[in-house]
Amino acid sequence: MNQPPLLPSSITVLERGWLSSNNVLLHGTTPDEGAVLVDTGYASHFEQTLVLVAAALRSTEAVRFVANTHLHSDHCGGNRAISERYRCPILIPPGDFTAIESWDESALSYRLTGQQCERFSPTGKLQPGHVLQQAGREWQIHSAPGHDPHSVILFEPESATLISADALWERGFGIVFPELDGANAFAEVSATLDIIENLRPRVVIPGHGAPFQDVPGALSSARERLNYFQREPTRHALHAAKALTVFHMLEVRQSSAAELIAWLQATPILISTWQRFFSAESLGEWTAQLLQDLVRTGALRQDSSTISVRGS
Ligand SMILES: [Zn+2]
Repeated sequence: MNQPPLLPSSITVLERGWLSSNNVLLHGTTPDEGAVLVDTGYASHFEQTLVLVAAALRSTEAVRFVANTHLHSDHCGGNRAISERYRCPILIPPGDFTAIESWDESALSYRLTGQQCERFSPTGKLQPGHVLQQAGREWQIHSAPGHDPHSVILFEPESATLISADALWERGFGIVFPELDGANAFAEVSATLDIIENLRPRVVIPGHGAPFQDVPGALSSARERLNYFQREPTRHALHAAKALTVFHMLEVRQSSAAELIAWLQATPILISTWQRFFSAESLGEWTAQLLQDLVRTGALRQDSSTISVRGS
């Protein structure tokens, strides 16, 4: 018996990895209509993003506009290159519009996380409660705070397809960034999981990893993880610090231990995480321990004094 296809034929998912988020193309009914591109990957991957998107577009189709679920560097780093190549507008969640428009470094996450993002100009807003029309389908825009206070997710009811960004992965969800700043955002993560459950998606396209259909399984593992973090916020902070370190190493690929320690000790979000959660130890002790743990658990590899990401 033929299995029904996982995704409607009008959708192409370019599954990327961890440094670059997935890119999702919502094709037009005809090439003239153009495609919508949801999220554009990390800045240093922009050439690969351009090649992958060009190869996935159908016949004479171009990108009609970019839509960003949220503005972390791994989701919008290719915005500038894509908008220049296709001369297309960029729609972003409204909560970030002013900061992005004026490129206010103190309000954006790039400097704080030690990550890069090419400056780009947004042209419109993805207003929650509104819909995106594409190929005769209506993509509902829903607020999805928690991982990022301004994130949106996109849901198309006819095929029950959800683009969940970093609000729900097959196993878990993205770092709850506001918690690192002392804000209470675990409740928002929980409310966003409820929203997703109520939408009853048949298939979820996450920000990272392959599309999946076991939505109840994903929701229950996300809730389990969330409960654990709510009981042990320090565990969440440690997980976040490790994830940010591995992300940095995916970007630079190789570093000496001394360079990596210097980066850890100069990155604002890691300094504030240490101050808030781990200042019983000195910053030097904490960062040395962090690096040691990442090497011990195999997330990073250390050959004499060179650090790299396992498997790279
Ligand atoms: Zn994110």
